[in-house]
Amino acid sequence: MASKTENVVIVGSGPAAWTAAIYAARANLNPLVYEGEVVGIDVPGGQLMLTTDIENFPGFPEPISGPSLMERMKEQALRYGVRVESELIVEADLSANPIRLKPNYGAEIATHTIIVATGAKAKWLGLPNEIRLATNGGGVSACAVCDAALPFYRNQVLAVVGGGDTAMEEALYTTKFASEVLIIHRRDSFRASKTMASRVLGHPKIKVLWNSHVVDVIGGDAITAVVVEDTVTGARRELAVGGLFVAIGHEPNTGFLKGQLETTPHGYIVTQPGRTATSIPGVFAAGDVIDDYYRQAITSAGTGCMAALEAERYLAHHGIGESPMIETAETAPPETETETAGA
Ligand code: FAD
Ligand code: NAP
Repeated sequence: MASKTENVVIVGSGPAAWTAAIYAARANLNPLVYEGEVVGIDVPGGQLMLTTDIENFPGFPEPISGPSLMERMKEQALRYGVRVESELIVEADLSANPIRLKPNYGAEIATHTIIVATGAKAKWLGLPNEIRLATNGGGVSACAVCDAALPFYRNQVLAVVGGGDTAMEEALYTTKFASEVLIIHRRDSFRASKTMASRVLGHPKIKVLWNSHVVDVIGGDAITAVVVEDTVTGARRELAVGGLFVAIGHEPNTGFLKGQLETTPHGYIVTQPGRTATSIPGVFAAGDVIDDYYRQAITSAGTGCMAALEAERYLAHHGIGESPMIETAETAPPETETETAGA
């Protein structure tokens, strides 16, 4: 049984979590962050721990490495006294009042509010060289919008794996930089929407390899080729490429919630329009776990900020914590002329 009740517990350790933590700490809410643990290629710090140069996070005119950016965000949170536990939250009872959370090792905790900022995982093919080259900046990535503009990928033949809308988007985006784009898809038709698929099929720089599956990635420090197997005949061939974008979908990290929150058919947490409040009062969600559309560090940081402000206002409404910085009620509409005149 928990001995005290926290004001706000933030679960996660990507840009959304650290931004929420900074805002909550500066609002004197004494937040507690559960940053997770190393599980396979998933590490505290989130998806940016898996990448090299970040060129699109404002405030860094020179590229900054993903891990350095995350270290700096955490450092900023620690500076304001944020408490951090390096454990996963493995279970939650969101209907309890206060909310109950079960860490992997420590005692159960109780909290008035929770900010779920557990992100999403890009799905990978699971090939050993794919993961090695993705983590050392060797030309394998799960985010073309993030990486395809880097000098490394310019004027190269680039491969994109997948047949859904994400793969179509990634392929179209990479055409801005690549000499040629090869879409490698395991079946003979796309799962993507007709509009996206027809844009791809009509693009002069894109070639589709149907019924094809990547079975190996070749390269020492940097990718040089992929080995592709024909799913019908089993024949294998090596294709020289200068980059590989794996675009076979994402999986939001919501397992520990065990279906207690309303989600989309793809498992993303549903929030109120323009807000981070979820289907359960006191539970807020931010970052990629609510977002299957933008999936960027800056948008995650933005919703992390929103979640902390909303949690602060929620607590104030319930008489916990200090007065909120900003009025909690929606601004009243201006009085109409008729009402004013008649008054
Ligand atoms: P995430 O970064 O997804 O992190 C959440 C973390 O929370 C998890 O990784 C885990 O450590 C922790 N966690 C999960 N479950 C639990 C739990 N139950 N308990 C405790 N902790 C938990 N975006 C850009 O803007 N620019 C880029 O250049 C860029 N490059 C990218 C390159 C790659 C290869 C990838 C995959 C993504 C890239 N992105 C980039 C996208 C960006 O990484 C994400 O949009 C962003 O990291 C999402 O942040 P988040 O805060 O939602 O959580
Ligand atoms: P998705 O629709 O699930 O498609 C994943 C694709 O990857 C499928 O073509 C699948 O092949 C392939 N795939 C999965 N696992 C694979 C593996 N191990 N090896 C090789 N190929 C594999 O995922 P998504 O494209 O990310 O889209 C998710 C949702 O977001 C969809 O609803 C989509 O419409 C939406 N979305 C919309 C937009 C947009 O409107 N602009 C953009 C992006 C995403 P199979 O087809 O053979 O299963």
